Amino acid sequence: MQFSGKTIVVTGAASGIGRATAEYLAKKGASKLLLVDVDSTALKNLQLSCESQALVGDVADERFWDATELGEIDHAVVNAGVARIGPIVEFSFEDWRRVLSVNLDGAFLTIRAALRAIRAGGSIVVTASAAGIKAEPGTAAYGSSKAALIHLARIAAREAAARNVRVNAIAPGGVETHIWDENPMFADLANQIGRKEAFAQMAAVATPLNRFAMPEDIGAQIAFLLSDLSGTMTGSLLVSDGGYSI
Ligand code: NAD
Repeated sequence: MQFSGKTIVVTGAASGIGRATAEYLAKKGASKLLLVDVDSTALKNLQLSCESQALVGDVADERFWDATELGEIDHAVVNAGVARIGPIVEFSFEDWRRVLSVNLDGAFLTIRAALRAIRAGGSIVVTASAAGIKAEPGTAAYGSSKAALIHLARIAAREAAARNVRVNAIAPGGVETHIWDENPMFADLANQIGRKEAFAQMAAVATPLNRFAMPEDIGAQIAFLLSDLSGTMTGSLLVSDGGYSI
């Protein structure tokens, strides 16, 4: 897998899966990374072994994309996302709108910008989630946003295929990142027993392989989906969840 000469957009690049993906792509020879995130401090502190440009903004804000000049790109990783957890009867409409806005509107705007800028032969990977295929109590907004995202990726794949552009999605199960801090049950557990042990306990509940992924695992799998190694794949969903959704 080599990305020399390639220009790649990564959203949600300041943390977790996005950051690990950017680091992996830089190691694999990417020429230039366009790194998008709302967290300007973390984004600007990211040190990579290739040329990069920090684009600070909200992926769900159309004005951000209108003001952003991507130039020509080869790949995009549509990855920025947020989670809010809670049963429907207690869930605020504001939280529902926020999750749908970042995870779905934001992905639509990112995919649209990427498809307008991408060269023939390019590819896009969308970070969905196992929550988009398995109905789990408490995940109405998050799971629905990810289910819609999986379908959006398939439709984008159909539309882009004639230009020889591929679009695939990955559905991680649990991954050890900061998105879990937004889950009150995890946050309480982490306070009591530490983050590492809290992740181990969460994994023990429903993940047959008994471990969460590290962001680096998912970053390498995203790179596979971007690369020519997956050249016959488009509109597919790579489930990487330790068996959680079986
Ligand atoms: P993370 O919180 O570590 O990283 C998410 C990044 O997205 C952060 O840097 C954040 O600032 C950025 N972001 C959030 N909203 C944004 C916005 N509106 N505009 C621009 N940037 C924004 O979490 P992560 O786990 O690395 O999440 C990355 C993706 O992976 C998300 O789409 C998430 O839903 C998905 N995912 C995560 C897991 C998991 O267990 N960690 C599992 C399945 C899917």
